Amino acid sequence: MENIFIFGHQNPDTDSIVSALILEKMEKEMGQNNVKAYRLGKINKETEYVLKHFDIAAPELLEEVKEWQKVMMVDHNEFNQSADGIEKARIKMVVDHHRLANFQTSEPLFYRAEPVGCTGTILYKMYKENGIEIEPTMAGLMASAIISDSLLFKSPTCTPEDEKACRELAEIAGLD
Ligand code: MN
Ligand code: MN
Repeated sequence: MENIFIFGHQNPDTDSIVSALILEKMEKEMGQNNVKAYRLGKINKETEYVLKHFDIAAPELLEEVKEWQKVMMVDHNEFNQSADGIEKARIKMVVDHHRLANFQTSEPLFYRAEPVGCTGTILYKMYKENGIEIEPTMAGLMASAIISDSLLFKSPTCTPEDEKACRELAEIAGLD
């Protein structure tokens, strides 16, 4: 079956890497097995620490997307922050918490955006909406993304929803 690539933005931060992995997991839980998370650049030190802590392998590097490639974008929507070739890809889904700009598609898509502080917070809500159980490892990854994006809840983009999600996730993950 044709694969669907999932990735966050270039110069990936923890939210971009972790959200791609979490969406891959969620899609598989829902029976969509032909999905695979990628990264569009080098893993930063913080993300390296998080992945190592939860014993999760980093996603493979994606250099470009070919014409008609099916993709799902997380943690971004702007084409100039995305993969080379994104203009001609088939965008099936976006899960994001940024302004909408420099974005268009040729086909209908699933688009989920909320003005919260982290994509991890939105994915957590989607897990709950779909009645999918969150494993401690996935919860730990989501909590890490929220802590990273919110600068430990100090960022002006951080909302009460992010704090609530992070507290619940830390409990599932068994973290302090
Ligand atoms: Mn980001
Ligand atoms: Mn983010």
